[in-house]
Amino acid sequence: MAVTGGCYCGEIRYEINGSQEAAFQCHCRECQYITGGNANIVVVFAESDFRYTKGLASSFARSDLENPVTRHFCGACGTGIGSRSPSRPNSMIVKVGTLDNPGEYQAQAAIFTCDRQAYHYIPNNIPSFDKRPTKKGATE
Ligand SMILES: [Zn+2]
Ligand SMILES: [Zn+2]
Repeated sequence: MAVTGGCYCGEIRYEINGSQEAAFQCHCRECQYITGGNANIVVVFAESDFRYTKGLASSFARSDLENPVTRHFCGACGTGIGSRSPSRPNSMIVKVGTLDNPGEYQAQAAIFTCDRQAYHYIPNNIPSFDKRPTKKGATE
């Protein structure tokens, strides 16, 4: 059964046919901008399993970074849909809040806790990492 989701205003819809590769919450400073302050909770799927079914997401990548992630978002309502990262070149990193059933997912690890704020919640039953479990260049 396909996993579906979209943005707040409904302009963008997507569908995923495949199972998750990973799910984690990222506490990095960059994600704090994107979420508005909290950790970014994301579910990772194979890029080939992900497709937009309605609308065309806008995208943004910082030009001042060597290996920037490309962030997908709705140009109408601003909802961040997810990102493509050079550290996961064949994956689509989907923000859990845009899934139609976000409650079906839970982070398996907390990463970049080096930037964690005191008000960020990390469940007791998942491991946390100062950076990421395997060392690679870019942040999510
Ligand atoms: Zn929208
Ligand atoms: Zn992050």
